[in-house]
Amino acid sequence: MSRPRVVILGAGYAGLKTAKELSKKNVEADIVLVNKNDYHYESTQLHEVAAGTEPASKITFNIVDVIDTKKVEFIKDTVVKVEKDDKKVLLENNGELSYDYLVMALGFESETFGIPGVDEFSLPLVNIKTAEAAQAHLDKMLSNYQQSKNELDLSIVVCGAGFTSIEYLGEITNRIPKLAKTMNFPMDKVKITCIEAMPTLLPMFSEKLGQFGIDVLKKRGVTFKVGTPIKEIKENTVVYEENGELKEVHAHTIIWTTGVKGSHVVGESGFAERRGRVMVEKDLRVEGYPDIFMIGDVSAVMDEESGRPFPTTAQIAIKQGEAAANNLARLLNNQPTEAFTFKSLGTVASIGNNVGMGQILGGKEVKGYMGSIVKKSIINKSLLDVGTAGTLLKKGRFDYYH
Ligand code: FAD
Repeated sequence: MSRPRVVILGAGYAGLKTAKELSKKNVEADIVLVNKNDYHYESTQLHEVAAGTEPASKITFNIVDVIDTKKVEFIKDTVVKVEKDDKKVLLENNGELSYDYLVMALGFESETFGIPGVDEFSLPLVNIKTAEAAQAHLDKMLSNYQQSKNELDLSIVVCGAGFTSIEYLGEITNRIPKLAKTMNFPMDKVKITCIEAMPTLLPMFSEKLGQFGIDVLKKRGVTFKVGTPIKEIKENTVVYEENGELKEVHAHTIIWTTGVKGSHVVGESGFAERRGRVMVEKDLRVEGYPDIFMIGDVSAVMDEESGRPFPTTAQIAIKQGEAAANNLARLLNNQPTEAFTFKSLGTVASIGNNVGMGQILGGKEVKGYMGSIVKKSIINKSLLDVGTAGTLLKKGRFDYYH
């Protein structure tokens, strides 16, 4: 009898962690990991690449360098669709791949909320390619100013004021003053506007902590527009609503960071989803499909305490990867699966290299320089979780005294 085949789709936090953990369990199964690139990227740090404060090489590493290639076969390909009733995966270049067990961990994509012009006229931060494109565009506009003297070259609009937006603003407000010296543009002509539809900024933090972050960014020159939903993006223009009136702000750099949704492959494959996410059962399997696990940003897991799904984060994706590997090993050994449990270790956002803010275990709040140290430790822990000690040494953050 042939060995069962476990196919893992996506080598982000969730998929890579599943592959690494499962390969340690000595299961009688063939393990196949599929990812569209041959590298993993730390998606939590994409804002640094987009802002140009770190190169892509700092937040990426080769997948085959961190998995046990004797136990996990890696296929570089793009998943087009899962034919779940025939138990096979359609790949862009390598035909079909059949499975006995499937782990879907294809991660997130940009969410446009159907707002016209977003895809055409703004820059998302969802993978290495888009982050590098955003960085190249920003640098080009800023350096253009010396010749053009067009102030829109120095104008940036960040759409959304969530976690990603705040972290991106933290990076660009660190870097632009340095660029002003080398590219020779006047800092007093730089205009950075952040537009948010919701009435409160950073609702995931306490009011005091959220205000701390906003104040840091305001001091660095960011203007916030709150309770002002974006209605359309046109070329070099963001149209938003304020007090019932449509208004416009103009800029040559428009960054789209209003939120994300799960991979479109989930919907294409006919799963019951909402914004690319499937509500999974307690053991992370999909209802009606006992051979399919759905983890990371393509899944929604109910938090019994709050009665709402957990937010999709790297932290939970890593824990789900561990749990999926454990349950796969149990299934392969004819044992019952276990329910997924999750206790958040807290949430910390960076505001550039030396400032951070957030809540850690026990609800304790950290901010400022201490916040940045905690954030760097979190990045380092995640590198160890999905990489190796060598990855941590090469890519880790040790510039605590920067
Ligand atoms: P991903 O990390 O998106 O990985 C998915 C993988 O699948 C990728 O390797 C991708 O290339 C691959 N893939 C996608 N489509 C296909 C396809 N069709 N075929 C083959 N391969 C495919 N979370 C936190 O916990 N803390 C933070 O501080 C934090 N900061 C963030 C900052 C930013 C700028 C962003 C964008 C997100 C942040 N998040 C943070 C959220 C976190 O990054 C996600 O929740 C996490 O990446 C989800 O992990 P995942 O494994 O589900 O997906």
